[in-house]
Amino acid sequence: MTIATHRFDALMNITARPPVVFVRGEGSYLWDQHGKRYLDFVQGWAVNCLGHAPPALVQALSQQAATLLTPSPAFYNEPSLALANALIERSGFDQVFFTNSGAEANEGAIKLARKYGSLHKSGAFEIITFQGGFHGRTLATMSASGKKAFEPLFEPKVPGFRKATLNDLSSVEALIGPQTVAVMLEPIQGEAGVWPATHQFLRDLRALTEQHGLLLILDEIQTGMGRTGKLFHYEHAGIAPDIMTLGKGIGGGVPLGALLATKQASCFAHGDQGGTYNGNPPMCAAGLAVLEAVSQPEFLKTVAERGHMLAAELQRVSARHGLGSVRGEGLLLALDLKRPIGATIVAEALGDGLLLNAPQPDALRFMPALNVTREQILIMTGGLDAILTRLGAARCVA
Ligand SMILES: *Cc1c(COP(=O)(O)O)cnc(C)c1O
Repeated sequence: MTIATHRFDALMNITARPPVVFVRGEGSYLWDQHGKRYLDFVQGWAVNCLGHAPPALVQALSQQAATLLTPSPAFYNEPSLALANALIERSGFDQVFFTNSGAEANEGAIKLARKYGSLHKSGAFEIITFQGGFHGRTLATMSASGKKAFEPLFEPKVPGFRKATLNDLSSVEALIGPQTVAVMLEPIQGEAGVWPATHQFLRDLRALTEQHGLLLILDEIQTGMGRTGKLFHYEHAGIAPDIMTLGKGIGGGVPLGALLATKQASCFAHGDQGGTYNGNPPMCAAGLAVLEAVSQPEFLKTVAERGHMLAAELQRVSARHGLGSVRGEGLLLALDLKRPIGATIVAEALGDGLLLNAPQPDALRFMPALNVTREQILIMTGGLDAILTRLGAARCVA
């Protein structure tokens, strides 16, 4: 069998994919089956924080694969201990549960909050989440999400999620009742189009949840692991959440997620949580290689600096073409297009060998490798500028 003879419809048709098969990646570049090269500003959806096939991760993964794949989650293994210890040393949390995806980490956070409610808050189980939020595609995480398109799907939803408005403290306050146990949010709403919670809102939420004895759960699946210029985004706001979930960047390209909790919030008993592959050695070894790289102060400083540069270059492009503002933090940025041309730009860029993402019809999202170079940023913004010029010219002719 070759790529040309494979039936694409052997895979369930869950999303519109371009007729391109990626066969190789290195750093900020991908190659398709025809040998065409693409500059990648999607990076597996903010996943490959060290780019494609980073040597440190490849070595950790292959060495671990040749040493021990899995002894069973009912036994300790060294890589999961090493990664859990490294994570608690670098954060304000005391315990970790590893997962295979971000949704599974959030599902675990929801279970942990409900367990906490049953132990400490007379069975309170409601979690306040946010309009526009995205927490994953399991039934509970879809129910927790505030994504409009999810609303009619897979009814009935898992009960117990009430939606507040981001950056509006009184909307949260109004939803707090005797059944409330937690507030859960992304510090920057990624899938909604990169809409940040202000640092002040995060601080106010922390004060409010403390005042009411509620858990604060941060979904840092997209913002964590250095993406916004700090190892974890909550460091920008100077707050200490009770629970945090990680995914995407933590594996640097392999399926890994994590649920972290403070001693007080970490209340699972035997039998409450588990899974066959949770904390399996090769994924944790990969995660440790990623964490060692991204938690270096110099690395994080460079992420922040590249983020400022990317934002400045995008602003220049925006000014030239009459587009809107740039929002986000570090290397998680969006450009407001002010009109629904996102999909057209993404398609044009693909043709030009540039991978971009439009999370909303009127916005582009940029989530390059965290070690993207200045030159690669300029190549991308140059390419985007050329596409916008072309589209502008097309509009004038039409
Ligand atoms: C991607 C994402 C998830 C879901 O993670 P999966 O690994 O796709 O299950 C959850 N929350 C946020 C904020 C995300 O960006």
